[in-house]
Amino acid sequence: MTDRRQIVRHLRMFNELGVQGVSRDASWRARATAAEGDEAPAPVAIASGAGSVESEAGDPPLAREGAATVDSDAALAALRANIGDCTRCPLHAQGRRQVVFGVGNAHAHLMFVGEAPGADEDREGEPFVGRAGQLLTKIIEAIGLRREDVYIANVIKCRPPGNRNPEPIEVATCEPFLREQIAIIQPKVIVALGTFAAHLLLASDAPISRLRGRVHPIGGGIRLVPTFHPAFLLRSPERKRDTWEDMKIVRALLAESA
Ligand code: SF4
Repeated sequence: MTDRRQIVRHLRMFNELGVQGVSRDASWRARATAAEGDEAPAPVAIASGAGSVESEAGDPPLAREGAATVDSDAALAALRANIGDCTRCPLHAQGRRQVVFGVGNAHAHLMFVGEAPGADEDREGEPFVGRAGQLLTKIIEAIGLRREDVYIANVIKCRPPGNRNPEPIEVATCEPFLREQIAIIQPKVIVALGTFAAHLLLASDAPISRLRGRVHPIGGGIRLVPTFHPAFLLRSPERKRDTWEDMKIVRALLAESA
């Protein structure tokens, strides 16, 4: 892909996320920050001629540095092996093709947690690979990261039939796997994508619209930022701007923890 095509693609991506313009001019950045009245870093700027995205806050850390006391890759592989061709909850007999474990950097500072695999994910064996997944990739790239820099998982590892909501017994049975993934990866920040992930990780039943826009410490040095699920954003694109605001919070948290 040429630099020019990359720039066009990035501009379209930011436009979809509700960013109203990009400029390298310092006064534009100051105006945007003052108008929005937040303390998050200023909007991103496109490096002229470089075809890349620059973060005003500098590049946030992509992964934990140094040797972890536990080999996170090996620990995740051991967990995946332990899950196996899981039959622990009723979903194993309701048409799922495979367990969709999770994907990404085992040492990531940033983790995304969604609800459950859909049809595309069930077929591919990877979370967030359908249209909602493509939007999630754009959201990740909007804060200057790549999909492979973060870790992506779901509350439920198997596809509910017809994409129905997970049943409480399914959540309760599968939840320990997510908790173990979090314990292994030890991210600095978790983005809960949608109601199910936010409710589980915050032990709250408040609407996602009330939970988002704020940072929730959840113990272990982890800060949780709820936002809308990308599938919801596809149905309600007017809420993309809210998710962009949430992602600016995430970007600031990552820069702060560098
Ligand atoms: S949803 Fe979780 S607990 Fe249920 S069968 Fe799949 S992996 Fe096992």
